[in-house]
Amino acid sequence: MEQVLSHLKAQRDAHLKWTRDLCAIPSISTKQEHRADVAKSVQFTHELCEKIGLKSRVMETGGHPLVYAEWTGAPNAPTFLAYGHVDVQPTGDLSLWNADPFEPIVKGDWLICRGSADDKGQVLLYLRAAEAWLKTHGKLPVNMKFLIEAEEEIGSPNLAPFVSKHRDMLAAEAVLISDTGMYKDGYPTLTIGTRGLVYKEVLVSGPTVDLHSGTHGGVIPNPTNVIARLVASLHDADGKVTVKDFYKNVVDASAEERKRLAELPFNEREYLDSLGPNTMPAGEKGWTTQERRSCRPTLDCNGIFGGFMQPGANTIIPAKAGAKISMRLVPNQNAEKIAAAFDETIRERCPKGVKLEIHSHGSADAYVTPIDSPVLKAAERALQDAYGQKPALIREGGSLPILPMFQRELGAPSILLGFASPHCNAHGPNEKAFIPDLDRGAETIARLFQLLAK
Ligand SMILES: [Zn+2]
Repeated sequence: MEQVLSHLKAQRDAHLKWTRDLCAIPSISTKQEHRADVAKSVQFTHELCEKIGLKSRVMETGGHPLVYAEWTGAPNAPTFLAYGHVDVQPTGDLSLWNADPFEPIVKGDWLICRGSADDKGQVLLYLRAAEAWLKTHGKLPVNMKFLIEAEEEIGSPNLAPFVSKHRDMLAAEAVLISDTGMYKDGYPTLTIGTRGLVYKEVLVSGPTVDLHSGTHGGVIPNPTNVIARLVASLHDADGKVTVKDFYKNVVDASAEERKRLAELPFNEREYLDSLGPNTMPAGEKGWTTQERRSCRPTLDCNGIFGGFMQPGANTIIPAKAGAKISMRLVPNQNAEKIAAAFDETIRERCPKGVKLEIHSHGSADAYVTPIDSPVLKAAERALQDAYGQKPALIREGGSLPILPMFQRELGAPSILLGFASPHCNAHGPNEKAFIPDLDRGAETIARLFQLLAK
C-alpha cells in the first residue's frame, strides 16, 4: 500500500492534469451543438484507460457513446464495477462565472471549472487509483470494470437498456460510484440511500366558464375550493401522509442508522435559518428533521392554480383549478403502487359535480444500500483510513434511478463514496472541486481496491 500511496503523491500534478484536460472539453450532453465534444470526452477517457493499462473500448448506446474498460487479471479475487459520467450540465448564465467554465483554473486549493466536481474530477479517481496499482504492482488487488457514460445529465436514457443487454460483461459484486457530495467539508461521506419519486397533477373542472360568484356562488362545487380541500386532506394532524396504504411497505431506518445520523454534527437552528427567517420545523411526528429529509417518505404540493390570479378582485366561481404534487418515496415503497394508491385516494375524496383528471409526470423507485453490506464496510474503512475520521452515513433526499436499475439488472448494490464539497456548486456557476479531497478520494479508492480483495 505504501508504494501505491507514494505513487499517488508523486503523480498528483500529472493526475490533476488529467482532470484539467478532461474538464476543458465542453461535453454538454443536452446540447446538440456539443455532440462532438461529448464524443471527444468519451474518446479522451478511453485513451486514458488504455494508457494506464486497462482494456478499453468505446461502445455505442443509441445516444452518446460510453467507455467500457476493465482489468480482470485476478482470477481468484472478486469483481467490482465503477460507474461515473463525463458529460456535464450546461453553463447557464456566463456572466455569473468568474472565468470561462471550460478553462480550468486552480485557485488556492480549488479547481474551478464545469465538471470538476460533477463528475469528471470524481470519476477519474478510479483511474488514478488503478494507475497507481498497475504502475507499482503490475496488477490490481481485485478485478475492476469501469462503465463511464456521457448521458447522465440528461437522465441516462440509454443506460438501463445497455446494462440489460450487457449483463454478463458488467457482472460485478457491487457498483462503486463517486458522484455525490460530502456531508460537511472534510467529512468523508457514504450515501447509502436515495428516495424515489412520484409526480402527479390533479385537475378539477366545474362550470363551462367562470361564473359570477354573487349570482351562482354557494350552489355548485367550486373547483378551487375542491382542490384546496383535496390538497389539505393529504396530511393528518401528525404530519402523516393519508394516501391509502402509503406507509404499508415502508422499511424504517434501522436503530443503527438512526444512531449514526443523530451523531453527525447538525445545527438545526442554523439549517432552518438558512431556509428563511423564522422557519420552524414541521413534518411527520416522531422523526427528526434529519430523518424527515432523508429516510422518511413525504408528500408536497408543488403548486396550486386556478381562477383569478391577477392583481385586484374578480368575483368568480372558477371553471377549473389544479394542483401539482410530488411524493418522495423510501424503500420498499413501489412507485407504481403509490401512484395508483394516490389516484384512488383522490378519486374517493373528490366530491360529485366536478370533472376530475389525474396526470402523471414521471416516477422513480427508492434505493438503499444494506448497512451491513461487507462492501459498504470496506468503503467505510477505506474512508476512515484516508481521512482519519469515521465517515458519515447519509441518505440523499433526491432520486437516482440508476441505483435501483443496477440492483435490478446486475443484482449488485451500489456504494456511493462522495468527494464533492457542499460548496462545489455542481450544475451552477463557478463549479469547483477541493483538490485535497480529490487527492484523498484517489487514496480512498486505492485503499478500497485492497480492502475489497479480502
Ligand atoms: Zn453527476
